[in-house]
Amino acid sequence: MAFPEPLERLIRALENFPGVGARSAERMALHVLRSPTEEVAELAVALRDARMDTRRCEVCGNITLRTPCAICSDDTRDRKVVCVVEGPREVEKLESAGIHTGLYHVLIEGFAPREGAEPDRSALQALRRRVDQGGVEEIVLATAPDREGEGAALKILEVLRGSRVNITRLARGLPVGARLEYLHGEILADAYRGRRPLDD
Ligand SMILES: [Zn+2]
Repeated sequence: MAFPEPLERLIRALENFPGVGARSAERMALHVLRSPTEEVAELAVALRDARMDTRRCEVCGNITLRTPCAICSDDTRDRKVVCVVEGPREVEKLESAGIHTGLYHVLIEGFAPREGAEPDRSALQALRRRVDQGGVEEIVLATAPDREGEGAALKILEVLRGSRVNITRLARGLPVGARLEYLHGEILADAYRGRRPLDD
């Protein structure tokens, strides 16, 4: 062992994070050693709280403190329209654009697809179950107009094949390659208003 056991253990734990190799894990661990003890204690608590206090909403799959989440438990929302997004930031963006009054379905894994991750099969299957349970009349695809978003959209179509639900998607006119989370609210609102049936 190059380092004392507790430090080796930390390095191994850090190596489990996506995109972190042995070298980066070592650098991060040495950074921890140089940090003030109170900062390290805070980090430990933050790690534990993030893991223990959050969960995915049993309805939409978003990350929440309580399930069902605030949006899914809001009786004033239109349950007939479900907007499928890649992650929590897209939900926030659409919410602040104030245009979508329906519910969401949040894939999350597709949200950080740069490392080759695919939209979570179970999130897709949960979407199919939601549709099959009835009451949903329109699925709005709001995945990004880039390669990963298009890939996610294809998988959503595949999982919804044979269901009677209407599928629409945000109007083209969104800049190619734009992540929803970076779009100006007005542009997003326009794209939402101009949404079209998918086979158009
Ligand atoms: Zn929810």
